[in-house]
Amino acid sequence: MNPQSGRIGELVDLARRTRGFMPDDEGLALMDAASRAGSGRPGAVFVEIGAWCGKSTVYLGAAAEHTGAVLFSVDHHRGSEENQAGWEHHDPTLVEPGDGRIDTLPHWRRAVAAAGLEPTVVGVVGDSPTVARAWRTPLAFCFIDGGHGDAPAWADYRGWAGHVAVGGLLAIHDVFPDPLDGGRPPYELWCDAVASGQWAQAGHCGSLRVLERTVPAPA
Ligand code: SAH
Ligand code: MG
Repeated sequence: MNPQSGRIGELVDLARRTRGFMPDDEGLALMDAASRAGSGRPGAVFVEIGAWCGKSTVYLGAAAEHTGAVLFSVDHHRGSEENQAGWEHHDPTLVEPGDGRIDTLPHWRRAVAAAGLEPTVVGVVGDSPTVARAWRTPLAFCFIDGGHGDAPAWADYRGWAGHVAVGGLLAIHDVFPDPLDGGRPPYELWCDAVASGQWAQAGHCGSLRVLERTVPAPA
């Protein structure tokens, strides 16, 4: 996939201009990993946890469209703890005046529509562990970038990692081995995955780590 031109170039350009928390080199690495997961498997199913305004959604949607996969993008669109007023990653322009709560869904929809990705990307609006409990389809690709606190990060990992098929990829964002660079939970769950013996390391870029499932998930 050439991020410089054609349809992929157009989508990468749009992803770069979408607001969010994904440096471009990591976004391109994410797109590449998803495209590896989807290629040769038309109809493959991708899931992303944590969409915010759709930046990672557009990078992943580009890979999904390119390989004939479908991307389910899960988010309650109310922001994580770290996005609420008074926290580091708060953006007051995303607060709904009606009820004073964050609502990123309109921004996400606009990004997906502007990208022309509506045939490829399905928004799932709700609580990630609740969706995970009802989920039954094996995944070719799963991206975890939801709440970064201890409880939400572990709930996403415990809820979703088991849905990744053998040969499928699990990508985790904001993995910082050095505590000075960022919070612990994503790194700790990445360590747990590596120690479980169920995964092989399959690439990294910045704080993005990619694992490939080599052993079926325990029942
Ligand atoms: N991937 C995005 C950033 C995601 S920020 C980007 O590229 O910019 C984390 C997101 O996780 C927020 O949008 C927040 O609403 C969502 N989130 C946090 N906890 C959640 C939960 N329990 N269920 C669903 N979404 C959740
Ligand atoms: Mg992130």
